[in-house]
Amino acid sequence: MSALLELQGVTAFYGQSQALFGVDLAVNDGEAVALMGRNGMGKTTTIRAIMHMLRHAGGTIRFAGRDLGTQSSHRVARAGIGLVPEGRRCFAPLTVEENLLSAARPGAWEIATVARLFPRLGERLGQKAALLSGGEQQMLAIGRALMTNPRLLILDEATEGLAPVVRHEIWAAIRDLKAQGLSILVVDKSLRELASAVDRCFVLEKGATVWSGSPDGLTEDITARYLGV
Ligand code: ATP
Repeated sequence: MSALLELQGVTAFYGQSQALFGVDLAVNDGEAVALMGRNGMGKTTTIRAIMHMLRHAGGTIRFAGRDLGTQSSHRVARAGIGLVPEGRRCFAPLTVEENLLSAARPGAWEIATVARLFPRLGERLGQKAALLSGGEQQMLAIGRALMTNPRLLILDEATEGLAPVVRHEIWAAIRDLKAQGLSILVVDKSLRELASAVDRCFVLEKGATVWSGSPDGLTEDITARYLGV
């Protein structure tokens, strides 16, 4: 397996303040990977660096064998990374269908395939995004990212703040996408769901990768030490 996304020794700053001190991470083709760590350890910052929403100061970030260099985040999205950002951000005044179409790029993912993955969205195509429930907005955010027909889907806080029944639907969709062969990088607080959905985990502590391995390797010792469980 070749690495689709590979980070080596990535460092990054917010102004003078260093947030990443050496992040190593890899997502192979067709693999689902969890990025873990307690609050404030650098998960969102790592995703911002991957998306070039924040410039990394050191180390390398390679996607599909290329260093995306100084490309804009727009270009990174075009290179094949679909982001579901923390806090979902859909266009509230637009309808579900308009939201989906605004992200569309040619490929297998189109309105019909998104509606099949999330039937609730399919039933609400004409409804304004502002009127959707939190869970439906997250489905729409995932649908928008899929409409870009990415090679890698990144979900930051996949199920944050959602009701258990909706979480269940989101995890089922993530497992479905993985079964379809999509590469996935996911951040979430629910350890059990994460561990059952991914092939590999990377754990951050104070902005650096401190552990990686298969979910089976997440022993009580590791989770107590790094994840505060
Ligand atoms: P959470 O689970 O709370 O979202 P996280 O692991 O995603 O945590 P980050 O949000 O990446 O962590 O934060 C990493 C560090 O960078 C923290 O010390 C945080 O305070 C700092 N930080 C995050 N965003 C900014 C910002 N916009 N400006 C300055 N510092 C920031």
